[in-house]
Amino acid sequence: MPAISSNKPYRIGRSRTGLGLFATKPIKKGTRIIRYFGPLLDCNKEKDDAVENKYLFQLTNRWTIDGAVRKNIARYINHACRPNAESDVHPIKRKVYIRAIKNIQPGEEINYDYGSEYFKEYIKPIGCLCASCVAKRKKARAELRAERLRLKQRAERKARKALEKAQADARLKRKQAARKQLNGAHVNGLSPRKIHAVTSGISMRPRGSGRTVRA
Ligand SMILES: [Zn+2]
Repeated sequence: MPAISSNKPYRIGRSRTGLGLFATKPIKKGTRIIRYFGPLLDCNKEKDDAVENKYLFQLTNRWTIDGAVRKNIARYINHACRPNAESDVHPIKRKVYIRAIKNIQPGEEINYDYGSEYFKEYIKPIGCLCASCVAKRKKARAELRAERLRLKQRAERKARKALEKAQADARLKRKQAARKQLNGAHVNGLSPRKIHAVTSGISMRPRGSGRTVRA
């Protein structure tokens, strides 16, 4: 790992994506933190144009900085979608600086946006691990969990209601069946009252049967 003199406001450290560059002192917004440097590649030269690595920084249609060299500490700076620094490009001077766009506190990782082309090519296929994307995915997962729970609870409520309705229906059917049985008893003439009436009819004596005949 390249040495960094102690008067620099940064150090190389472990980050979510491997290594990263971290502030060791407060860095004020607008400060040039570090230069991104390396050999200049001329795309008009076949040999230069053939160079392929993840640290190429295109300045113009013709010139590109090959930042893969060991001394280029700025190559440790990771991408972030909501960064605290930016690349400050000077195409005519063929120089690039990384500049703070926010006040950065000691311990904070320094990030800049690598741009949409790099993002599409290298980051999107594996998923962005920057703080805001990680937080976004976490939030999305939490929302999905909450939605699943809501759906589950709704299904349980529905099932409970269906069960209650089925039980109520069964009670009603039983009641109706009992009433029908009672009605059926009347139709068949087996009602206790009727039986009593018939019985008393039989025991009735014809009128005047016990009458005494006057002499
Ligand atoms: Zn991101």
